[in-house]
Amino acid sequence: MRRGLRYSLLSLLILLVACAEPEQPAPELLVYSARKEHLIKPLFDRFTEQTGVVVRYVTDKAGPLLTRLQAEGENSPADLLMTVDAGNLWQATEVGVLQPVESAILNSNVPKHLRGRDNSWFSLTIRARTMVYNTDTLSASDLSTYEALAQPEWAGRLCLRTSKKVYNQSLVATMIATLGEEQAEQVVAGWVDNLALDPFSNDTKVMEAVALEQCEVGIVNTYYYGRLKKQKPEIPLALFWPNQQGEGAQGRGVHVNVSGVGITRASQNKVLAQQLIEWLTTPEAQRMLMDLNQEYPVNPGVEMNAELQAWGLFKGDQIDVSEAGRLQAAAVKLMDRVGYR
Ligand code: FE
Repeated sequence: MRRGLRYSLLSLLILLVACAEPEQPAPELLVYSARKEHLIKPLFDRFTEQTGVVVRYVTDKAGPLLTRLQAEGENSPADLLMTVDAGNLWQATEVGVLQPVESAILNSNVPKHLRGRDNSWFSLTIRARTMVYNTDTLSASDLSTYEALAQPEWAGRLCLRTSKKVYNQSLVATMIATLGEEQAEQVVAGWVDNLALDPFSNDTKVMEAVALEQCEVGIVNTYYYGRLKKQKPEIPLALFWPNQQGEGAQGRGVHVNVSGVGITRASQNKVLAQQLIEWLTTPEAQRMLMDLNQEYPVNPGVEMNAELQAWGLFKGDQIDVSEAGRLQAAAVKLMDRVGYR
């Protein structure tokens, strides 16, 4: 009886203490994101459901976000920077707005060549920049390597997106890393000679020109192909995976780039920020990322979804994607020299 009373008094005391405790605000993270809201919100909502951590975000283009982080310096309210393209992530590391993270989970979920060299950023998805061709005028056996598209037989048959886009700067930068500057320049000059039309402002326009037989082959990121095929299933286009066979540069694999994320140097919430990055590399989040934009999972343990499988398996270039950043300026100059606009 007395024992029962003591327990009730104790519970009452605990209740009173609990009530007296001021309510803790939910922990929060702020992400600067160059990825659009519809591609990140479902992920952040799910993370909040599971952890109670609220994720707020500001979306803008990669350049302005980076400038803002630099201007804010140590006072930046941002905990994480999320963006696309290894060139942009490399740039963020160069200007010192990110901080390294040591995490066994990330080291196991993200292959080494898809992380920043000092572990200050981690890829979340892989984006393949490959060939798309007109299935009425070409067959897969007509195609082989990125370099082959520089041959005179392709004169007037190639379409490309503008060299101003970082995707092409990264493609050319990795070609410089692999082929050497001189050979890379010959290839890009050959592409320019073979252009059927002036470079386009985006990948979808490249594919539409290929479909209209204004040219026969182009180089695009696969998720744009996925989007266009969804809208126009009958469009006479197919993907081709170049550089799959042979030794050395010839068989290096498809050019891959990434989207990724890093913790800002200014972050006061490093533990939570790391938890979010780790969660984004888990199978559940990787599947969400894959289904949201048809990009490839970075975690090698995650199986591709049905649509990606239907596009076929391919070997991706294993080059350290940071090379895309290191050689970006050289790539821009090279493209300028050969008149690739
Ligand atoms: Fe894109």
